[in-house]
Amino acid sequence: MMILPDFRLMKPTSLSEALSVLAQNPGAMPVAGGTDLLVSMKHGLFKPPILVDLKGAQELHRIEAGENGAILGACVRLSQVKNHPQIRARYPALSQAAEAVASPPLQNRGTLGGNICLDTRCYFYNQSEFWRNSLGGCLKKEGPVCRVAPGSKRCFANFSSDTVPALIALGARIKLIGGPDGEREFPLEEFFVEDGIRRNVLLPGELVAEIHLPASQGLLSGFRKYRKRGSIDYPLVSVAIAFRLSDGRLKDVRVALGAMASSPVLALETMEALEGAVPTPDLLANAASLVVKRAKPVKNQAGTPAHRRLMARVLCRRLLEELTCAGGKHE
Ligand SMILES: Cc1cc2nc3c(=O)[nH]c(=O)nc-3n(C[C@H](O)[C@H](O)[C@H](O)COP(=O)(O)OP(=O)(O)OC[C@H]3O[C@@H](n4cnc5c(N)ncnc54)[C@H](O)[C@@H]3O)c2cc1C
Ligand code: SF4
Repeated sequence: MMILPDFRLMKPTSLSEALSVLAQNPGAMPVAGGTDLLVSMKHGLFKPPILVDLKGAQELHRIEAGENGAILGACVRLSQVKNHPQIRARYPALSQAAEAVASPPLQNRGTLGGNICLDTRCYFYNQSEFWRNSLGGCLKKEGPVCRVAPGSKRCFANFSSDTVPALIALGARIKLIGGPDGEREFPLEEFFVEDGIRRNVLLPGELVAEIHLPASQGLLSGFRKYRKRGSIDYPLVSVAIAFRLSDGRLKDVRVALGAMASSPVLALETMEALEGAVPTPDLLANAASLVVKRAKPVKNQAGTPAHRRLMARVLCRRLLEELTCAGGKHE
């Protein structure tokens, strides 16, 4: 049986109070839905003396979507993202991704901010303390070497959030609050760091406040995920694509991959091959085959890296075909 370690739960009622509690208590961690963090705490991966519950901060619950774009607060639940009529209509990649996370009860509890800040995952890390100690730990926790790549000085734990590739394909920007400069906002892809331990650029005491999506006029988008079972499983591969069709040609193409590295990846070669092109079956298949240039999984999840690379290519081709058909231009 895995037991939660002792901690104190603080329940601020505003964003400013949450930030000041975090600033005054170094070592405290924010918690939103707790569906990732509490499991990790039971595994002994984190032992924060204080958890700061963000859900009382009403500022983080904003969810608005219209002609000019969308704003989603960090504490918006995944089920709200999945079911919001305007998100479903304007940003289907995002509602499909939220629907692909875990299972409905976890979507009802888990938040968008928690999904963005999700810890990276690895077969040698997401285990009980007893299991890890019997092996001697690894670079990410309690040990001297990476068990996946023993010669490496860095950790390759897998980036496993489902909503992030969709948000990146849709051109999302992230707003952080509580850093030395107060607020900062930038493209979501710049939030992540290709290092399984550091993960992202959040500073101590800083929080994800909001996600901003640009206007969706004419945008076609979708998300596909490959996993062991049809639900309650993290991605082995995920692909999100967004583009416009103008005069029969692909425009503003963005293709993002998840679970292929320690951070989400923009498939730049695929995007270049598609931009401005007429979407014929051969063109789509060739462009999809280029995702392997950016898909670099290592052997720290189920399946082989070669199979996961192949599935990235397959999912990308299928999704491109479906979306271009839906746009009415595919022959
Ligand atoms: C059985 C199971 C299956 C799962 N399957 C999937 C899956 O398929 N795909 C997937 O993407 N996820 C999956 N998850 C993980 C998790 O349920 C989701 O990622 C969820 O969105 C996490 O949100 P949360 O609010 O519960 O995060 P929490 O657990 O509350 O927090 C996660 C991390 O984010 C930090 N954090 C939370 N909010 C903020 C904020 N606003 N600013 C800064 N830091 C913050 C916390 O400190 C913590 O480090 C699964 C979990 C379980 C238990
Ligand atoms: S990739 Fe290596 S260092 Fe990172 S969690 Fe896995 S075994 Fe540990």
